[in-house]
Amino acid sequence: MRVLVVEDDAELAQRLQQALREAGYAADSTADGAEAAYLGREEPFDAVILDLGLPERSGLQVLTDWRDGGVDLPVLILTARDAWYERVEGFEAGADDYLGKPFHMAELLARLGALLRRHYGRSAGPLRTAGLQLDEARQMVTTPDDTEHELTATEFSLLRYLMHNPGRVLSKTALTDHLYEYDADRDSNVLEVYIRRLRQKIGAERIRTRRGQGYELVP
Ligand code: CA
Repeated sequence: MRVLVVEDDAELAQRLQQALREAGYAADSTADGAEAAYLGREEPFDAVILDLGLPERSGLQVLTDWRDGGVDLPVLILTARDAWYERVEGFEAGADDYLGKPFHMAELLARLGALLRRHYGRSAGPLRTAGLQLDEARQMVTTPDDTEHELTATEFSLLRYLMHNPGRVLSKTALTDHLYEYDADRDSNVLEVYIRRLRQKIGAERIRTRRGQGYELVP
């Protein structure tokens, strides 16, 4: 899952990026409202953390532009403007969640996880798909024989994305787009290596290769 952080406080942006990466997300950031508007429209992000007080173009304006343009990315507003009427304004502009500063990183990550589950039409609790259960906090997967397997950061990110999209054929490009940051080196051979390692842990038959198309988590 790839998250865009829109925040002009450089220190906070960096802290957010680091916490997101530790939680297994790819995280890009921008301090610029106009650039944020462009990235949200053109890049395949899975969620946005959006500050409202930005120089040049406000976060609220960016959000309004996205919604007017049909961009339906889940958006969590993270702002010091936390009066009730400001929250109402945020939701009316199309926010999915709203968190006031100062905040606890654990709450932000919990809200982001819930936001993504809702966006993919899932209920609360651990992510369960195809007989697998993913523990997102511990980055472990339980297979149907009740065995727990530890996952590396990349294996975890890859499996989480697959588990959010069971039964969908995902091209290598789609997978790298959602797993790697903007300026990352995207080598699809490396992806094959991670698919092979995941298969060793969860069972080869669970990830089907569709020749010339991509991979599918068998639901
Ligand atoms: Ca700000």
